[in-house]
Amino acid sequence: MNNLREIAQKFKTKGGFEVLENAAMADRFSFKIGGTTPLLLEPLTEDAFLYAVNELKNDGIAYFILGGGTNIVFSDDGFDGAVISTLKLNKIEEITSRGTGTGTDFNADGETAVISCQCGALMNTLVNFCTRNGYSGLEQFCGLPGTVGGASYMNARCFDREISDVVRKIEYFTKNDAGTYEKREMMMDKSSWSYKISPFTGTDDIVFRVEFSVKKENEAKRSEIAEKAAGYMKQRVDKGHFKFPCAGSVFKNNRDFGAPSGQIIDEAGLKGYSIGDAQIAPWHGNIIINTGKAGSKDVKALVDYIKAQIKEEKGFELEEEIIFK
Ligand SMILES: Cc1cc2nc3c(=O)[nH]c(=O)nc-3n(C[C@H](O)[C@H](O)[C@H](O)COP(=O)(O)OP(=O)(O)OC[C@H]3O[C@@H](n4cnc5c(N)ncnc54)[C@H](O)[C@@H]3O)c2cc1C
Repeated sequence: MNNLREIAQKFKTKGGFEVLENAAMADRFSFKIGGTTPLLLEPLTEDAFLYAVNELKNDGIAYFILGGGTNIVFSDDGFDGAVISTLKLNKIEEITSRGTGTGTDFNADGETAVISCQCGALMNTLVNFCTRNGYSGLEQFCGLPGTVGGASYMNARCFDREISDVVRKIEYFTKNDAGTYEKREMMMDKSSWSYKISPFTGTDDIVFRVEFSVKKENEAKRSEIAEKAAGYMKQRVDKGHFKFPCAGSVFKNNRDFGAPSGQIIDEAGLKGYSIGDAQIAPWHGNIIINTGKAGSKDVKALVDYIKAQIKEEKGFELEEEIIFK
């Protein structure tokens, strides 16, 4: 802790960050759950971000990268280390449009544009940017909570479209042979992405900037794009996504089980079951909601309960999609 105080001072002196000590974290998570962290860093530039991860690593301080906090159950006991929030790195811009490509084949048809996003840009802000400027291809992600970095890390999937369908290139930080983080880039290669898995999942690589391939539409089609996006948002609202604090789907779907996890949990009669203020949504088996003052321990106990019930009744081993930190 003392050590972390000195380290906080080092970051303040260096500049390029917002630095918060003993930060209360619950409001940074869509579940509205969690304790404090002794050090919360919000890098404002790419250099500051790289500096932070290398310094923390060299100082032997545990850290994790936080995007929108929409897929995480943060511990009631807090995190004994540093949390790096990407939210201040949120630039979105079109970097290429008709005829101004960089020589690769993405705009060979003359209609494809490339939108560049820093990792902390919100997915929904990106979709709004596209609908406003007449780019199609990302409408399915309208209303997806969280950031571009988080969605890329998780290979988020909405209405049968996943991030890997629309990403062109990713810049990321990875450790070199000497163990120092440095920036690299990768072009989309679908073979290293799969259902809810990206090449970053489970690694300590960090997504920094993502390029999306979209289609530049003519004026006449613009309202169609906006309507389509609004339709997807409506479906989310109608499904009760935003009624209570939650972290979206609790369990991944598994084709081998023959039905989505939500349906399996519904059929086991578990909808509405609660532990403390953590409740299986009465309208959706695969969402756990915080009806008041739920803690991470309530959510964990409920997840374990569901898994045990389904294992006993159906023999299926449900796999969590939400991440406990
Ligand atoms: C109401 C609701 C609806 C949802 N609907 C969907 C849905 O339809 N489809 C879907 O796929 N998900 C859905 N989710 C889950 C969640 O929104 C997505 O997984 C989202 O992409 C997570 O992004 P985030 O920025 O919030 O990530 P966080 O929750 O902040 O982090 C998730 C993981 O990504 C890592 N991470 C975050 N940013 C980076 C980065 N820049 N580099 C490396 N690692 C990083 C974190 O360390 C963590 O391990 C929903 C959630 C809610 C609350």
